[in-house]
Amino acid sequence: MTKAASAAAKDFAAAGVGGVHLAWADNNGIPRSRIVPIAGLADAAVRGVGATSLFAVFDSHDAITYGHAGLATPSGDIRLVPVVERLRRLAGQPALAWAPARQLTRDGEPWPYCQRAVLEAQVAEGARRGLEFRAGYELEFAVAPAGSTDIVTTPGHPGPAYSPHALVRLDGFIAALLHDFAANGLRIGQLHAEYGVAQVELSLAATDPVAAADDQLLARQTIHAAAHAHGLVVSFAPLIGLGSAGNGWHLHTSVHRKGRNLLDDLGGDGAGYLAGLLRDLPALTAITAPSVPSTLRLRPGYFAGAYAFWGVENREAPLRYVPGSPLLGAGHANVELKTSDASANPYLALAVVLAAGMAGIEDAPALPEPIGEDPGGWTAGERETRGVRRLPADTAEQDAALLATPRIAGVLGDDLLGAFRAVRASDAAWAAERAPGEIVAAHLWRY
Ligand code: GLU
Ligand code: MG
Repeated sequence: MTKAASAAAKDFAAAGVGGVHLAWADNNGIPRSRIVPIAGLADAAVRGVGATSLFAVFDSHDAITYGHAGLATPSGDIRLVPVVERLRRLAGQPALAWAPARQLTRDGEPWPYCQRAVLEAQVAEGARRGLEFRAGYELEFAVAPAGSTDIVTTPGHPGPAYSPHALVRLDGFIAALLHDFAANGLRIGQLHAEYGVAQVELSLAATDPVAAADDQLLARQTIHAAAHAHGLVVSFAPLIGLGSAGNGWHLHTSVHRKGRNLLDDLGGDGAGYLAGLLRDLPALTAITAPSVPSTLRLRPGYFAGAYAFWGVENREAPLRYVPGSPLLGAGHANVELKTSDASANPYLALAVVLAAGMAGIEDAPALPEPIGEDPGGWTAGERETRGVRRLPADTAEQDAALLATPRIAGVLGDDLLGAFRAVRASDAAWAAERAPGEIVAAHLWRY
């Protein structure tokens, strides 16, 4: 690895790269990083660079909570070690390169709070069971002129939704996205003006799960840089205004055995995978849409998912089954989780989804009939009769759902689970004294 890092450092230095972001995402889905000068890359690849262990207990507002017993004092250091195979020069910030970081102990062991390691463990568990996964995130975000503090009143494009005209005034930005994503090794599936105010969406092509989470982080950096270069700012926050469509970061996954996509039909293990996700959906959502604005986003009628059910191509369903077809091929089939957003740690979100799906394949819980409508339009009695429950609607309900589901809570391990819950409690205490509009505004630029 030192050799690869030295070689990369030499090439990058010759090309004018001065430093490398060692990046990870915290328990709020907020990317954090340390830059090492390019000359220090090879050393960092072996010994890492120091950082405080308290990053695991930063809340969404950069406050540090001491509410978790394992990290209750300001003492303690970890080592951030770049994953050199995933090192990229940043096309939009050419003096910088980027690599995801592992969080290791001072002895070089995996740190129990390392979210990326938690995902790696689930992928390894899948491999033990003969399973492989494909995953890809869709990113929705809102665009505004630089300096804007309220996107709703100063939108970066005027709509109409899905119209090519909406993107004309963003032409330079869109061109930079297409160029920089390709140059940074990220594959865009498609890009469009989305439904919401000033909203744009792009999807990332499916890949292996750890790369999908790495890519999601790199995509954020790439989008922010392109926006900055074109006099814009972007918000990835779950909500940009109380009445606006939310920014979902829908998570598509599929599961494969011996090269066959098990989701190609819902007869056997594919049904188990989907039923596993449905069974644990309340607890999953506590990880995949964990912030206070996340819970505000999950309202019926906004295509974000508010009730626990699944559907076939039903955009209101938090679990949307996307079948393969003769045109698309069997490999295309996947499940989209809509209750997912930028305030989730992308590694943890994927880890719990894979764990729920694997448990479903193992236990084969019954898969109820798909629902083609929006249960938000039904009466409470109809929902009751058809067994459709509201997803946890605030932090306390999410926490209860998580604790009631050891199969999901256990994926994090006791240490990380404790830190994650302490951070959620800190966010909830912050929000308890504030009005919803203020909460949404405070999260706008965090991701
Ligand atoms: N913006 C919606 C959300 O909050 C999703 C719209 C769509 O189906 O793409 O997730
Ligand atoms: Mg969308």
